[in-house]
Amino acid sequence: MNANLERRACPRCGSGDSEPRLASEDFMLGIAGPFHAAACRGCGLLFQNPALPAASLGAHYPEAYAPYSRRPLRPDPAALRYAKRRLGYAHLETARGGYSWRKPGGRAAAETLLLPRFVPGGKLLEIACASGERLEMLRDLGWRHCSGIEYGEAPALRARALGFPVHVGPVERALDAIPDGSLDVVIASFVLEHLENPFTLVRRLAGKLRPGGQFLFSTLRVGAPDFRIFGKYWYNLDLPRHYTFFRDEDLLELVRGEFEVEGRRCQAAPRDYTGSAEYRARRENRPFDRLLLKLGNRIRPACRVLAAMGWASRVCIACRKRG
Ligand SMILES: [Zn+2]
Repeated sequence: MNANLERRACPRCGSGDSEPRLASEDFMLGIAGPFHAAACRGCGLLFQNPALPAASLGAHYPEAYAPYSRRPLRPDPAALRYAKRRLGYAHLETARGGYSWRKPGGRAAAETLLLPRFVPGGKLLEIACASGERLEMLRDLGWRHCSGIEYGEAPALRARALGFPVHVGPVERALDAIPDGSLDVVIASFVLEHLENPFTLVRRLAGKLRPGGQFLFSTLRVGAPDFRIFGKYWYNLDLPRHYTFFRDEDLLELVRGEFEVEGRRCQAAPRDYTGSAEYRARRENRPFDRLLLKLGNRIRPACRVLAAMGWASRVCIACRKRG
């Protein structure tokens, strides 16, 4: 067992009583494990326990970590048309390109892109902004006051080079410098699962937003078929980098105190299945996994159907601060 692992209390209810559920390894980067997920006996939350202290995690986000690879974000034409009509982006040129049955409609595309309603002169913060791809897209869409927080120094420097003020370091510390009630939008794309305590962090974020401010985030949820089929081989388990594995009721608890939920959209990526099959194939020999790996991205239409039914492990949630 990794000697640096420490026992933790449940981040949702504070209980120190939890039962082991999964032991897994770091399939992505190969850090010596095993690592563990436990279910709280108080509230049922699944979380990494025992876990590496977050302060030691820097070494687990090498430059090769996939989200740090620089890929421009290009909004879908359908998302732009929806944004222009429904989200206040009337200043945008009319987006070309028609609706296609192969692609989700405008609202779905805008929700999965975590596109906020436009606020002229508004202040927007992205948590874990990586190399600034999303901030760049939002600036192109008319947001003039965009800033970021990023844990990794190299991607943060790239985002700064694009002209964005970016705080380098843990989000919990970076928030100290932001005045309460000063932000119109906070965006967090697949980051809450990386935090030791997303519940206290979301409460703090609420404090930084003005009343009516928007909080848009995506994260991972357990309970979808990919998690049920693959368990400790689940691609999105990603131990030891993920600390919290939300059920829908945990996600509701996360925002219930301060926010109204305005939109919720599930997403499934072929990788949720093919990535999991790849991990399992390293330890077990199953025809089902070989089939998935052979099909590869051809399972995308099936993933769309599952997502439309809510059976998907990625979820995008749009909330508005009460008041
Ligand atoms: Zn608990």
